[in-house]
Amino acid sequence: MSAAKPITIVGGGLAGLTLGIGLRQQDIPVTVWEAGHYPRHRVCGEFISGRGQDVLARLGLRESFSRAGSALARTAAFYLGRTGSPVRPLPAPALCLSRFAMDALLAERFRASGGELRENARWREEDFGEGVVRANGRRLQPVADGCRWFGLKVHARNVPLAADLEMHGSQTGYVGFCRLPDGEVNVCGLFLQAASKAAGPQAWRDLLRGLPGTPLRERLAGAALDESSLCSVAGFSLRPHRGTAQNECCIGDALTMIPPVTGNGMSMAFESAEMALGPLAAYSRGESSWSQARQSVAAACDRAFARRLAWARWLQWMMFTPLLRGWPGAMVLHSEWLWRTMFTRTR
Ligand SMILES: Cc1cc2nc3c(=O)[nH]c(=O)nc-3n(C[C@H](O)[C@H](O)[C@H](O)COP(=O)(O)OP(=O)(O)OC[C@H]3O[C@@H](n4cnc5c(N)ncnc54)[C@H](O)[C@@H]3O)c2cc1C
Repeated sequence: MSAAKPITIVGGGLAGLTLGIGLRQQDIPVTVWEAGHYPRHRVCGEFISGRGQDVLARLGLRESFSRAGSALARTAAFYLGRTGSPVRPLPAPALCLSRFAMDALLAERFRASGGELRENARWREEDFGEGVVRANGRRLQPVADGCRWFGLKVHARNVPLAADLEMHGSQTGYVGFCRLPDGEVNVCGLFLQAASKAAGPQAWRDLLRGLPGTPLRERLAGAALDESSLCSVAGFSLRPHRGTAQNECCIGDALTMIPPVTGNGMSMAFESAEMALGPLAAYSRGESSWSQARQSVAAACDRAFARRLAWARWLQWMMFTPLLRGWPGAMVLHSEWLWRTMFTRTR
């Protein structure tokens, strides 16, 4: 019997490590290149919602999340400016854990399974050719549709919330709050700025606190922010991409980003990793060519994600448009039908 061909994964984030763990469970030799180190804070709402939770269970990772102290979010409320929705039960609970803990625990599981993890090792080759999986996260795009996206994250205490997850929309962006274990709260914002505006240093506190008189400002009035957890990200596009249009094997954000308001990006990272397992294992065992494996992964991801990406664009539009301020916003926020439709269609 010939030896299994090795797989190289570029990017040791959620998608790359999950794929690495799954491949190691089939005894396939895997090396992960990670430009950063563990543990470290990442810009993320830290709210895992959708089918990715089942992937974690199938790969035997769910238990590690519980041991790391993950919490369940069961309720949510949305706000547009001063107007809020009722507090609603989430149709399915979300799993909440800091990326500081999550990425490190996946890295540890990957190493324990016999995978080679190269930390502080940036992949510098242009080529993601045979045997190489691109899992290196969002693709750099400083300006998208004449605008710049940027994200901020900080952990805080003393944040009085009405629900386990709260999303607060304004015209420049939105800020989400998610209850984490041990009384911590994730405060994470996504903002949009015209590309013509100079990209100067932003007053991050002001951006996160929002306008006076809003529920957002009230939430952070007495908050103790953990500045060591502050991080930011910029230069990405939220336009959907199709795997079959790319000639590399991509998973996670490297394949496509879903608007963060859905809280589904991490789930897509886990799901795409699982969808890549079968085709890559077949390639490694010599049962298919690299090109067949790559195309199978891309087609499976496109089938699974196309509909939710389309709905996610609508949800994101709702968070930003000035048309939904005042009474139209109140109507939207109080529609039970819209809430259920958006929740189910974006995951
Ligand atoms: C503001 C904001 C809020 C979000 N909130 C949520 C949320 O609440 N829930 C949710 O599900 N999703 C959320 N997301 C999305 C989620 O964070 C991503 O979808 C998820 O992290 C994607 O995982 P990934 O493994 O594809 O990429 P990443 O987690 O970004 O990992 C990619 C890794 O590749 C490494 N890398 C990059 N280039 C190289 C290289 N050349 N060589 C080696 N390594 C490299 C990076 O260091 C990184 O560790 C949010 C995103 C943003 C921007």
